[in-house]
Amino acid sequence: MKERCLVITIDCDDVLVPTAYKVLDHYKDEFGHEVNPAHFYESTAEDWGVHDLRHVNRRIEQYFRSKKFHHEGKIPYPEATIAIPALARHHELHLVTGRGKFMERSTAELIDEYFPNCFSSLVHTNYFKKRFRQTKGQVCKELSADIHIDDHTEHCQNVLDEGIENAILFGEYPWNRTVKLRQGLARCVDWVSTVEEVSQIAAR
Ligand SMILES: [Mg+2]
Repeated sequence: MKERCLVITIDCDDVLVPTAYKVLDHYKDEFGHEVNPAHFYESTAEDWGVHDLRHVNRRIEQYFRSKKFHHEGKIPYPEATIAIPALARHHELHLVTGRGKFMERSTAELIDEYFPNCFSSLVHTNYFKKRFRQTKGQVCKELSADIHIDDHTEHCQNVLDEGIENAILFGEYPWNRTVKLRQGLARCVDWVSTVEEVSQIAAR
């Protein structure tokens, strides 16, 4: 069956590389507070043992800027290193991450090392700086994406709200267990099923 060439936007953290658990492990080592991974995205200050969530953002940013993250935060999921080049042979891929602009170099190094020549662009939407961020929906629309792949339910819903036809909720994580199913939203637990889902969409 002939497959269409699609524009696919792909998240970075917990889709290409495991990140959330590294942040949580670091947070526990550094600040002595164990955070429930289910509350990684939707949390109160209390979940992180602070009075103000802004402290949490600062602490996580420090980790992302650290040598420790530089060494341990750039090892992708092995399946992603197979799936991404395979998708890139047939489709146009763009990385669309919520990471802050300060991580552009670090992300580019990761992509150059493990996913060379796979992505047409790398976009950092600054999700954690509310005043300065773009939504993934806006970015994916500008890129005319056909499919967005993300482990965060909010981003999947947001791209669909902006008119992107397909979103794939990636992985089985404590923070994405519950999701309101809707037209255009598929759930894929790993890269093998994600590639299959893309193939089905491309064959429509
Ligand atoms: Mg993510």
